[in-house]
Amino acid sequence: MSTSVLVIGGGISGIKATLDLGKLGVETILIEQKDKLGGTFENLGSTFPYGVNAQASLKNWFQILNSLRNVKIYMNTLVKSVVKVNDGFKIIVDTDKASFIVGAIIVATGFTPFDATKIPNYHYGKYKNVINSLELVKMLRNGQNLSKPSDNTPLRKVSFITCIGSRDKKTNDYCSSFCCAYTVHLAKMVKELDRKIDVTIMYMDMRTFSNYEALYQEARSLGVKFLRVKPSIVFKYKNSKQISIQVENTITREFLQHKTDLVVLSIGAEPADGNDELGRIMKLLRDERTGFFTVSNDDDVSAVEQERIFIIGNASGPKDSQYSLAQASAAALKAIISIKGLNF
Ligand SMILES: Cc1cc2nc3c(=O)[nH]c(=O)nc-3n(C[C@H](O)[C@H](O)[C@H](O)COP(=O)(O)OP(=O)(O)OC[C@H]3O[C@@H](n4cnc5c(N)ncnc54)[C@H](O)[C@@H]3O)c2cc1C
Ligand code: SF4
Repeated sequence: MSTSVLVIGGGISGIKATLDLGKLGVETILIEQKDKLGGTFENLGSTFPYGVNAQASLKNWFQILNSLRNVKIYMNTLVKSVVKVNDGFKIIVDTDKASFIVGAIIVATGFTPFDATKIPNYHYGKYKNVINSLELVKMLRNGQNLSKPSDNTPLRKVSFITCIGSRDKKTNDYCSSFCCAYTVHLAKMVKELDRKIDVTIMYMDMRTFSNYEALYQEARSLGVKFLRVKPSIVFKYKNSKQISIQVENTITREFLQHKTDLVVLSIGAEPADGNDELGRIMKLLRDERTGFFTVSNDDDVSAVEQERIFIIGNASGPKDSQYSLAQASAAALKAIISIKGLNF
């Protein structure tokens, strides 16, 4: 059996698995389809739950990766074929037709952020003052004073709409699990920047479980408003600079109009774009309802019906960074156990 491991996908899940394997002396090959490592994390600044700076974490991880001689990284690369052979898997990649044999594979292909133009009622991509959460992250990262994208005048009211592309039969009916927490974190950041900005989060349910509840409490104490409503449409009155959101109060069933300067759509996760092709090549099962790869109920990382293949992070469904990192370490250990033929 080959004692090398292949990791597919260089977001934080793939990086962490590679680091753990590399530090334990395992020959590891990391394949990333883009010209940058980091995945979605690469776009983030301050992150929940502890305000850790994503850029600083990545910089630190890259330094360690570069120091590991037993780690080889292929950028701008895709897996072309995976064939089971006596001593593991024979892998062919599309860059200069390189091939290698590995004993185990870790799939860390992550997710695609939901494209909000798929919900026409919110006019994302049409109204300049309707943005998605990644765009707000960019504004906050640039450290610029928050202003309206339409005319750069100061912002007085910001309204978040949650569950964008999630928990809705018209898009995806699953919960994307990390967007309540990042919404509360971003709302808090806006308030911390300027207490005079009126910040409202429109939500169906607030899923700030475990230690994320503290974030919710902190946001409330800073004056972030939480409105349990179902927004149906974002529109503009003729000659008005403000945007209006038509909402239904889900408790009183009243219809209201909420005026605001900026709408932030808290987008969820969809399966990574290339999962169809990779799933076909590797014969990976996918969840019929969500489209993400399926893992075993026993350990949450082993691919179903495939030996020595592990699936981590958002490749098997939406997860925050902490859960993704924990899975990466678990899969690294499982991969070592499987290639060394250890029995526990
Ligand atoms: C707006 C926003 C804010 C967020 N804020 C936070 C936060 O504050 N704290 C937090 O914990 N989480 C946050 N998250 C969630 C966080 O982004 C994810 O938990 C994390 O990015 C998951 O990492 P991943 O490696 O599993 O997936 P990804 O980040 O999706 O990385 C997957 C990588 O695999 C590569 N890839 C895909 N397919 C292939 C292929 N076939 N071959 C080779 N490479 C491939 C991709 O190019 C990418 O580099 C936020 C998410 C969003 C959308
Ligand atoms: S985590 Fe929150 S915002 Fe995201 S889909 Fe679930 S309930 Fe909606």
